[in-house]
Amino acid sequence: MGSEVKTTTCYMCACRCGIRVHLRDGEVRYIEGNPEHPLNKGVICAKGASGIMKQVSPARLTRPLRRKEGAERGAGEFEPISWDEAFAMLEARLGAIRATDPKKFALFTGRDQMQALTGLFARQFGTPNYAAHGGFCSVNMAAGMIYTIGGSFWEFGGPDLERAKLFVMLGTAEDHHSNPLKIALSKFKRDGGRFISINPVRTGYSAIADEWVPIRPGTDGALLLALNHEIIAQGLYDREFVARYTNGGQLVIVDPASPRHGLLAIDEDADAVNPQYPQNQLWWDRHANRPVVSHTPDADPYLFGDFTLPDGTRVRPAFQLLAERVGEYTAEWAAAITGIPAATIRRLAHEMGVTARDEKIELPIAWTDCWGNEHQTVTGNPVAFHAMRGLAAHSNGFQTVRALAILMSLLGTIDRPGGFRHKAPFPRAIPPSAKTPTGPEGVQPNTPLAGLALGWPGSPEDLFVDAEGNPVRIDKGFSWEYPLSVHGLMHNVITNAWRGDPYPLDTLMIFMANMAWNSTMNTDEVRRMLNDRGADGEYKIPFLVVCDAFQSETTAFADLVLPDTTYLERHDVMSILDRPISEFDGPMDSVRVPVLPPKGECKPFQEVLIELGSRLRLPAFVDAQGARKYRDYPDFIVRHETEPGSGIGFLAGWRGADGSKALLGEPNPAQWQKYAENNCVFKHEMAPSYRYMRNWNRGYMEWAQRVRLRRWGDPILVHLYSEVLQRFRLAARGKWPGRRPPERLAQRVATHFDPLPFYSAPLEVQATDLEKYPLAAITQRPMAMYHSWDSQNAWLRQIHAHNYLFINPRTAMAQGIADGAWMWVESQWGRVRCMGRHSEAVEPGTVWTWNAIGKSPGAWGLAPDANEFTQGFILNHLISDRLPGETSNSDPVTGQAGWYDVRVRILPA
Ligand code: SF4
Repeated sequence: MGSEVKTTTCYMCACRCGIRVHLRDGEVRYIEGNPEHPLNKGVICAKGASGIMKQVSPARLTRPLRRKEGAERGAGEFEPISWDEAFAMLEARLGAIRATDPKKFALFTGRDQMQALTGLFARQFGTPNYAAHGGFCSVNMAAGMIYTIGGSFWEFGGPDLERAKLFVMLGTAEDHHSNPLKIALSKFKRDGGRFISINPVRTGYSAIADEWVPIRPGTDGALLLALNHEIIAQGLYDREFVARYTNGGQLVIVDPASPRHGLLAIDEDADAVNPQYPQNQLWWDRHANRPVVSHTPDADPYLFGDFTLPDGTRVRPAFQLLAERVGEYTAEWAAAITGIPAATIRRLAHEMGVTARDEKIELPIAWTDCWGNEHQTVTGNPVAFHAMRGLAAHSNGFQTVRALAILMSLLGTIDRPGGFRHKAPFPRAIPPSAKTPTGPEGVQPNTPLAGLALGWPGSPEDLFVDAEGNPVRIDKGFSWEYPLSVHGLMHNVITNAWRGDPYPLDTLMIFMANMAWNSTMNTDEVRRMLNDRGADGEYKIPFLVVCDAFQSETTAFADLVLPDTTYLERHDVMSILDRPISEFDGPMDSVRVPVLPPKGECKPFQEVLIELGSRLRLPAFVDAQGARKYRDYPDFIVRHETEPGSGIGFLAGWRGADGSKALLGEPNPAQWQKYAENNCVFKHEMAPSYRYMRNWNRGYMEWAQRVRLRRWGDPILVHLYSEVLQRFRLAARGKWPGRRPPERLAQRVATHFDPLPFYSAPLEVQATDLEKYPLAAITQRPMAMYHSWDSQNAWLRQIHAHNYLFINPRTAMAQGIADGAWMWVESQWGRVRCMGRHSEAVEPGTVWTWNAIGKSPGAWGLAPDANEFTQGFILNHLISDRLPGETSNSDPVTGQAGWYDVRVRILPA
């Protein structure tokens, strides 16, 4: 065979860097970054370079396994079976469920990159019970941003460090968008940019920040509200941007007696343009001193004031209400909550505001806005932000992220040079138009789901509930408990299914998620639930299917284990229908192609779904006669279209019969070949005039409609004031003409669905004795490992084989805990023994550790005395999925898991 070099896409983490895999005699000898790949430009990290060890991991699963007759779940006692037997078992079981009650089958997946396919399979099956990891990762980041600016960070948008002068990073360690962000940061710093990191811990990117601002976990909302306060109080907001591109000038009805209280006033005689996203709201015009339809030519709205419409309705500009709201959030108030001195908060706000105002960028790019105004240049206010799970993973995170998106908007940085920029297919409408079914009738035997399993509610009518307001989904997503749970609540599934609340499941299929260990709160209880039987002697979750490439803590509980391939052994697609790798200047997608044959009998999960879809005769996978439609996954990817003849498939590049079309076109049988010849990447550069101000850019909107990235061409005003949230609040107050929440949830909805951002301490903090448990405890994903994936990787284990609890020396010594000593860390839910490590890089009120280094004995193919068992630990043992009062430890708006809200004390051991 000799030596050869093959090109594919890394998947040692989710960043999707291009790699070149060097093989000798069919074995991987070396992996390097692909210098021709537009994302990582040849850069590779420790994880990426260590992919070679994944192939020889002792934890590889290589055959389908069935739990041995009589063996207990969790014991890990299996017998090998053939794929034919496995498929026959699944076909019979799932076929019977689909023919009777499809919601008894649930498919939940971890950090996979094929949600367009897994979601399609679930929808075709007819179950509402589908979601990926987002609900326990960063759904607050996605929802808080998308419900405010129509886009979000990472796959959907990011900081334009090429042109930014000031970069502020909040709650981000070294994880999302790793190599591309490192490359951008190093250039930004070399070009003289100033980098401020706001984080309880100074690790990862923060280590190279010019200024580290330590903050107490879960209090970012207080800081951001105070920054908004200062920006308005110091007159540093971009008035023109706020007036034209946000709903700040639109008039809000202020009449508590009115059924439309808190909604935007409209001119009912004016053309709404698009009833789904109406455009007949009102401004109070400064020139004519009267109400006019928003964006009337030559009009300019008052941002402050109190007005009365001709019919006597009292109204105020949304910006006035925002200013009133943040008026109470002073720097002194925030200092007491965040631990950041008031003077620092004022200085930060001033620096942001002055940089945005005085260092403007003008790019000589002509563009036309959605109202027909022609602009000769694109303006940029060069302050960029980036934030991730540190802001999101709190039960107050949605409103925190709203406060961040509003700050970015007040500074005039949305989709502008040097600020935040969208990535295709974003921006989306607010909210996006995808919807779930709205009641149990959307779930029918032998029928695809009557909507998507995950959607974007715009009002109570979009919730997925029955006539009494009870949830239809097993995770209670899109119910009154978590109305905007746009990524589902995977962390609730096992607990809810075990309780039979709202109903029991029959079969739970888990792909690539370690739900019996580090991906679940309440680890011990969840493991017990997986092994628990009802009075009839049957397991409470009757059938558990786990598909994974490695033997994890979770596989031990499976009834059926399906061995997946590694990323080097399969085809894969990072699709624009899902989470693409687009860059600011245009849509991009990418693929993986196998560089090695599958090990043993491993089969890609993609192939499992195509096979099951065909056997179960799910409409998308069979022809009109019910015969199998696709040979395999690569064939499916090439030939599947979102609708017959739509010209839209999973891959956007080299479409059309001869491969000459982009984004839209007939299937091309040679598509995989074209990707393979082009570093596995397709990149489409948009015309320069389409690259900025996309929320309001007529040229971009028309193009995006032509290529079907967008359904509507309407402008997407930033929602400083969220009318969507107000609709739910009105329902909770009994003033909405349609659905209302059950009484027990009315106050919760009324409180948290505030149309303006507000601060409240995380739910768990409110339910903790802070005298007894004064310290915040958080985790970070290590640089050298991706969650639990790499504890079987011989090279990466040399970097981390156990973890410490990092503690500020002052805090540690106050408890008599020496550097390196064994100690206890204890919450109201449990305690765990660990080793403490003194660190000045953590603020004194916080302790932290790396996520998922500690392992359960016997897992991951590790030796019985492995350090991961004997010295490592996971913090999950201290975290509960429930709070007193039986509510989930999740954000009441989105259902985001409150991972970072636990409070602890430390004791010597
Ligand atoms: S950042 Fe992630 S995708 Fe990129 S090389 Fe490292 S592990 Fe691979």
